[in-house]
Amino acid sequence: MKKQVILATTNMGKVKEFQALLEPLDIQVMSIHDLEGERIPEVVEDGETFEENALKKARAFYRQFNIPALADDSGLEVDYLNGEPGIYSARYAGEGKNDQDNIEKLLEKLKEVKETELRKAHFTCAIAFVDGAEEETVTRGECHGVIASQPRGENGFGYDPIFYLPEEKRTMAELSKEEKNKISHRSVALKKLVENLSVKIVD
Ligand code: IMP
Repeated sequence: MKKQVILATTNMGKVKEFQALLEPLDIQVMSIHDLEGERIPEVVEDGETFEENALKKARAFYRQFNIPALADDSGLEVDYLNGEPGIYSARYAGEGKNDQDNIEKLLEKLKEVKETELRKAHFTCAIAFVDGAEEETVTRGECHGVIASQPRGENGFGYDPIFYLPEEKRTMAELSKEEKNKISHRSVALKKLVENLSVKIVD
């Protein structure tokens, strides 16, 4: 029988991405949509790092459902801004603001910064796996690029339209989903986790 894990997210895109990478290990990824009627734990993401937030979510889901739990936390870190917006990426422009507002705030902060070298940034993703107090694994993935001077591309979400990949000569929002999945911070972290777990998780 397939081993089941629960992914602490409401984002079905993430569930598909995780499922594709965990398939070779014969692991079935469940989401909260598979658990209708169950109480979904509310987790306050007040950690100081991506790792802390991911662990907090995975621990809460493990405790609630008593099955192995996975969670991720991610964001954009801009070198010139000492890692801003970092763990505050989703709400950089304030509560109730959207991706567009976040992008505008970031471009405004970098408007005097013309040199490409100074506009370097990376997406970071931490993924936590929790299967009991003794079984906790956290991995980190990064994807490096440069903040473009204006948005380009329609795909993806968040800061993708201003995240320029010099080797692709395109922004992240100009890549297809498949292309993004190959290089994204999430897939790097997930591949590391799969390597770590391939021994542990499959009995
Ligand atoms: P979360 O970890 O999925 O909640 O992501 C936090 C925030 O980081 C998102 O709301 C985006 O603003 C940003 N972010 C994380 N991953 C990506 C990505 O792959 N592309 C663009 N923005 C991202």
